Amino acid sequence: MDNIFVSNPSLPLFDEYVEEIRSIWDTKKLTNSGPKLAEFSLLLENLFRSKNICLCCNGHMALETAILSLGIKGEIITSPFTFASTTQAIIRCGCTPVFCDISSTDLTIDYTKIESLITPNTGAILPVHVYGNICDFINIQKISKMYNLPVIYDAAHAFGEEINGESVSKFGDISIFSFHATKVFNSIEGGCIVYDNPSIKDRINKFINFGLNGQYDFSVVGFNAKMSEFHASMGICNLRHLNEEIEKRKIVFEEYFNILAGAAGITLYNLNASNKKNNYSYFPILIENKIFGKSRDEVSTLLEKNQIYPRKYFYPITSSFSAYRGLFPIQETPVASYVSENILCLPLYSNLQIEDVRRICNIILG
Ligand SMILES: *Cc1c(COP(=O)(O)O)cnc(C)c1O
Repeated sequence: MDNIFVSNPSLPLFDEYVEEIRSIWDTKKLTNSGPKLAEFSLLLENLFRSKNICLCCNGHMALETAILSLGIKGEIITSPFTFASTTQAIIRCGCTPVFCDISSTDLTIDYTKIESLITPNTGAILPVHVYGNICDFINIQKISKMYNLPVIYDAAHAFGEEINGESVSKFGDISIFSFHATKVFNSIEGGCIVYDNPSIKDRINKFINFGLNGQYDFSVVGFNAKMSEFHASMGICNLRHLNEEIEKRKIVFEEYFNILAGAAGITLYNLNASNKKNNYSYFPILIENKIFGKSRDEVSTLLEKNQIYPRKYFYPITSSFSAYRGLFPIQETPVASYVSENILCLPLYSNLQIEDVRRICNIILG
């Protein structure tokens, strides 16, 4: 039996990709805003229904670029229940993360706890649409307005999602997306920034290209976060198949949901609000040992013995990373800690077989 990993990258047919990159041998343009980047950008403008887009080499650099381009300083209120990148970006940009607890219903930042964390040093709010669960953007917007704080959404998990027919990229001042191989949609490595105010376009474009200003001057301390033509080509190919991929993921998601929904001690996260278009990016389950009779770690080991490799996303919470020990005061986030200790992400990808989903569920429940 083959190994089953938590994710499996979407790839176009080999010939489709080869056809897509053929023209690169004519243009000799490998990177630095070539025609493939322009084409990919245009496709994303249509998808996000926004002209304010910047493609990047990955989601992490998109996030750092977002923080720097808004000139954010001081404390950033954020969620510790996320991938390392969110917190790492804040600290690498010279800011201090202030950890806010999460909501136990959708695991995104608990907006009711944000206000008490605001100080004169607060520079921004950086929530995460974790697992593609959309943050309470309406209430976060109210807080942002009241305190005049910019909001950057880490939307790395939310590509392709909509609420009331509106792209999730419309919320806050900036949203960043990741096109990493393990995400719902990939360009091998890649990411993008979608921003609200067109006046920051110039700053964003400078940061991702070493700070270059004109031909020989460098007017900000930038870096290299550009996307290559080969990555853009993969993005173009995979975008053609996005809807099909999401449809297949939905079938897998629903099979898991139907089988596991009744199990005592297992909490599922049903994203199926009628006004939301989901991307079915993850299938997290919360296992309460006392009720279910097995702990998260026991379930994980059991699956691994059967060559099935779920992941403890997101464990541990980022505030407990050894890199940060003693660096900044850490707020108590009991819900995030509890969820992190008991959550498990089950394998979910478009070509995961329904028989395998059933087998995985039988092992968990057995
Ligand atoms: C994947 C991810 C990132 C970083 O994206 P990369 O493209 O891998 O650099 C940032 N935030 C979250 C929540 C992620 O899952």
